[in-house]
Amino acid sequence: MLTQIKGLHHMTSLAADARENNAFFTEVLGLRRVKKTVNFDAPDVYHLYYGDEVGTPGSVMTYFPFPNMMRGRHGAGEIGETVFSVPAGSLDFWADRLQHYNVHGLEKEDVFGEKRLRFQNPDGEGFALAEISDDPRAQWTTDAIGTDHAIRGFHSAGMRLQDTGAMSELLGFMGYQHVDTKDNVARFAVEDGTGANTIDLHSVPGASMAQQGAGSVHHIAFSVEDRAAQLDVRKALLDTGYAVTPVIDRDYFWAIYFRTPGGVLFEIATNEPGFNRDEDTAHLGQALKLPKQHEHLRQSLEARLQPIPA
Ligand code: ZN
Repeated sequence: MLTQIKGLHHMTSLAADARENNAFFTEVLGLRRVKKTVNFDAPDVYHLYYGDEVGTPGSVMTYFPFPNMMRGRHGAGEIGETVFSVPAGSLDFWADRLQHYNVHGLEKEDVFGEKRLRFQNPDGEGFALAEISDDPRAQWTTDAIGTDHAIRGFHSAGMRLQDTGAMSELLGFMGYQHVDTKDNVARFAVEDGTGANTIDLHSVPGASMAQQGAGSVHHIAFSVEDRAAQLDVRKALLDTGYAVTPVIDRDYFWAIYFRTPGGVLFEIATNEPGFNRDEDTAHLGQALKLPKQHEHLRQSLEARLQPIPA
């Protein structure tokens, strides 16, 4: 069993409109945009990162907004729900706020004893806010969203799978413990993680497979401290038979990827070097940062990418 994996690092999803996506995560949810860069493999598409003040691993929601992308179809083999941690007693504030912004899919629920408010982003992607009373992580606050209400990073991610058996085994191998099962949901958690320590597996045996598009999660990334830990994890996964990519430099972290049983794409990302390696903390996310291999395209990219507010 691996001990290097420390919970979630980031989640990456697909969207259809950069400006709308930016407004939703910075204004409605009150996250900080910590990086404005481009998709390394398709540099005419943004890669936008939203999180806490410095984009601490476990807080970072990232997007590839492909202009006018068709919506995905939800189903099995995908992340169905990404859950943020908010302070106890804050859900009424959030219900009013999200209603004010005409957010779709608002629904209060109780999951493993946690009070939750479900909602969808403008592309129909599933999210929830969960009241967590003992979450010590620092918050990014705005004029409209103070410390009594602000998001503290991810709490968990929920995966929908036709068969949860192989994924349960994989999570166990990655260092997750089975915590509880209720109805069709099995909960797993890792100790000493980034705070975003929980994964819920939703068993949906009859569901058809999801098709990716706007509103779909593209991949889920787990955190390791450094490159040495990442190499240990990579070797262990290869030895177990997973087809893992080589280590890829993503400028703000190093990444490896592998496809899991049931279809979800996993990434293992390092906590080093972080988002303030090329911008000071006070100005994170404001300038368009390009990876060095695409710097020569700056002029044409700046002309083509949809302007979004600083
Ligand atoms: Zn990623």
